[in-house]
Amino acid sequence: MAQEVVVLGGGVGGTVVANQLARAVAGQIDAGEVRLTQISASAHHVYQPLYLYMAFDQANPAEGRRPQASLLDPHVGLITASAERVDREQRDVVLAGGRRVHYDYLVLATGSRPAPEQVPGLQEGGHWFYTEEGALRLRDALLAFTGGRVVLVVGVPHKCPVAPLEFTFMLDEWLRGRGLRDQTELTYTYPIGRLHSLEPVARWAEPVMAQRGIRTETFFNVERVDPQARTVVGAEGTTLPYDLLVAIPPHSGQKVILDSGIGDKGGWVPTDRHTLQMVGDDHIYVCGDTTNLPISKAGSTAHFEADVIAANLASRLQGGHGSARYDGKVVCFIETGLSKATYVAFDYENPPQPKEPSALLHHMKLAYNRMYWLTSAGVL
Ligand SMILES: Cc1cc2nc3c(=O)[nH]c(=O)nc-3n(C[C@H](O)[C@H](O)[C@H](O)COP(=O)(O)OP(=O)(O)OC[C@H]3O[C@@H](n4cnc5c(N)ncnc54)[C@H](O)[C@@H]3O)c2cc1C
Repeated sequence: MAQEVVVLGGGVGGTVVANQLARAVAGQIDAGEVRLTQISASAHHVYQPLYLYMAFDQANPAEGRRPQASLLDPHVGLITASAERVDREQRDVVLAGGRRVHYDYLVLATGSRPAPEQVPGLQEGGHWFYTEEGALRLRDALLAFTGGRVVLVVGVPHKCPVAPLEFTFMLDEWLRGRGLRDQTELTYTYPIGRLHSLEPVARWAEPVMAQRGIRTETFFNVERVDPQARTVVGAEGTTLPYDLLVAIPPHSGQKVILDSGIGDKGGWVPTDRHTLQMVGDDHIYVCGDTTNLPISKAGSTAHFEADVIAANLASRLQGGHGSARYDGKVVCFIETGLSKATYVAFDYENPPQPKEPSALLHHMKLAYNRMYWLTSAGVL
């Protein structure tokens, strides 16, 4: 009987795992010894980093979307369906409607979900660029903006930890370009006592904010929004008035994780930081935003983790031990405006060191946005 590998999730992590594993065990799949299936709730793959550009009317939704089937190696079977539950006793994934898909090895790569509903008043009073609809709504609000108070608030946890900085720096330049910066008070808030969770990034960002006249407010954990009064209230007691409120909503894990009883209370799956196996289950690997690892929830994280998971699954399917280890590697470009960017690369042992921003790094980020389709499909 074929060994069954199921990859749950067709985003960054799930797609890279499936394609790399397909190539590594193609012979076994052709011989009927291994079957590789991906289950994904959506028939489309979405490249989420483009939402940032959509908010500034610099990208449109069609550029960020491709049919999932077009990205997968022909050795991967795709089931487009929403999973409701993982039955670890039977080793089945239970789909909406009751169909069961059996696994010998399962990769959980269901990602994370922005949860603006966790902050009272935010859905009525705020904007965000963490969903396609949200980015388009924010784009319209920005195009109609004529000056006033813009406040950015950051919920935790959230994916793409550098996005709040990128949005703020891009907005600063965008407002200057439209002649609106002098009429705008721009305030960047952050939940802890510095400007970013990564300390070297916080140190780097501080003078940049000061040079650009961006107000900062640390220890601001957004508690509630009053859409009528147009104020946002932090848990620490500060109240900030706004004309335009932009939020990075807090995120949670997916419902399927919570309903399967395999996540913590936020819906994140306890994961070994090196092997990427689910703690206490040798048959399950966890990839990308789905883990509970205290590292950046980012596409690059998902990609580097996927390399390790695919290598270990290929090894185990071929009688090996699967001993490759993830070292915490993350690489992120950070837009510092509309025409320059910096980047950081770090891992469990080596902290990030932002480089001098340059036009070249900005163009590299834009180039990666296009190359993404080739890297996820495994062409590059
Ligand atoms: C505005 C923005 C900007 C960003 N910029 C960057 C950046 O510059 N660099 C970077 O590295 N990262 C960036 N990210 C983060 C990056 O997009 C995510 O961290 C990455 O997509 C996580 O990959 P993943 O595979 O864990 O989850 P995802 O890519 O979100 O994929 C999850 C998959 O699971 C599927 N799924 C979910 N629930 C179910 C279910 N019940 N049944 C079946 N399928 C299910 C979904 O349909 C989806 O296919 C950005 C994100 C945003 C929103």
